[in-house]
Amino acid sequence: MTRLIPLLALLLSLPTLSRAEPAKDRHVILVSIDGFPAYLWHDPTLMVPNLRQLAAGGASAKALTVSNPSITWINHTTLVTGVEPRKHGVLFNGLLVRKDGVPPVIEQWADKSRMVFVPTLYDVAHQAGLTTAESDWVAITNPGTINWSFAELPKPDDAVVKEMIAAGVATEEEIGWMQMGPNRKGVPFLDSMWTRAAIHLFETHRPNLLLYHTLNTDYTHHMHGPRSGPGFTALELADRLLGDLIDAVDRSGLREKTTIVVATDHGFKKVTKFVQPNVALKKAGLARGLGPTVSSCDAYVMAQGGMAFAYVTNPARRSELLPQLREMFSTMEGIAEVIDGEKGHELGMPTPDENTGMGDLILFASEGYAFRKEVTGEEVVVPAVNYGGTHGYPASDPELDGIFIAHGPDIKPGTVVDRVSNLDVAPTLARIMGLSLPDTDGRVLDEILKE
Ligand SMILES: [Zn+2]
Repeated sequence: MTRLIPLLALLLSLPTLSRAEPAKDRHVILVSIDGFPAYLWHDPTLMVPNLRQLAAGGASAKALTVSNPSITWINHTTLVTGVEPRKHGVLFNGLLVRKDGVPPVIEQWADKSRMVFVPTLYDVAHQAGLTTAESDWVAITNPGTINWSFAELPKPDDAVVKEMIAAGVATEEEIGWMQMGPNRKGVPFLDSMWTRAAIHLFETHRPNLLLYHTLNTDYTHHMHGPRSGPGFTALELADRLLGDLIDAVDRSGLREKTTIVVATDHGFKKVTKFVQPNVALKKAGLARGLGPTVSSCDAYVMAQGGMAFAYVTNPARRSELLPQLREMFSTMEGIAEVIDGEKGHELGMPTPDENTGMGDLILFASEGYAFRKEVTGEEVVVPAVNYGGTHGYPASDPELDGIFIAHGPDIKPGTVVDRVSNLDVAPTLARIMGLSLPDTDGRVLDEILKE
């Protein structure tokens, strides 16, 4: 018997993080501030006191590596799955559906089950009996594993919307101002609503996992460019809104049991010119239509900022057109590189056979250029007017690096590491929540966790 006592003592002294049981008394808030580049986090003139305080009392990385394509939905999905887009399947801000003879379409509100091919952190948490909530997370339509949702486009009859109206934290008119159409208000207003919802969800339901995403920083960087006055102001507003959520955590008395992780989906680059490959396809007779529309085509290019996917939309001409398109794009002004979709694995992406949303060719824009799908006019390259920047460039470009900050009872205070990957976020949060995410490409960030 006596030999069991040291074993028992050892078991009792095991660090809390070895817990194998779902941590029902713990809370995790995963915050995404859209389009927040690492280089701006390192700018001492950026006034983000709430983020600085979280980093000082917790852990931060000098850079967060993101996934290809460095686009919003793709990287939010990496953050909650810990696997590359090759496996999780999200390649656009929505589900790309190929159609013969016409341009592919993006179904933005396709159910999550049709576009995310692996279990997410919230799926695993929900299945383990933990509670889950989201405000403005993406690729998350009808997941079946979120207890409380305030969507990017909340509907007046959503349960959470009704609760918020009944509680006096939102009005029907305000929900109306979030709908698409002429009455939709600006992105700062939307962010304030998503923040109000996140606060309501945390205070009312105390979910074990809350996913919260704000968008104004991305919008402002697109319009005015990173390192612009409006860009700085947007980052500072995002910090203020996060501060409101942290205040709510403090008021709830749950701060000591709450881990807050702040990340982003991608960095940002400045843009001065647009390259419009579909104009070249139209001039070559491969895309046809009047004015701004393409009504029929043999090939079409879907733009994703610094990257574009080219599709052969006439299967009968596939073997003839692929080399022709590769040649056309390789010599086009504004295109730095053309890669076969078959080589998607080199970029962490699938091949077209594995995922029909994948382009037959991948085009990368040159420095200062961004892709647009427009087909009007005769010019393939046009100046970017009233446009400041974008993302979608190779994730290996340091300007695409994002931020990573973690604070909470399991995080070693004052830790600064050089680089983490967005693949590591989900496995690390799973560990903190007493869950395990199977078969991730990322790893648990042991270096930021208490012994
Ligand atoms: Zn984004």
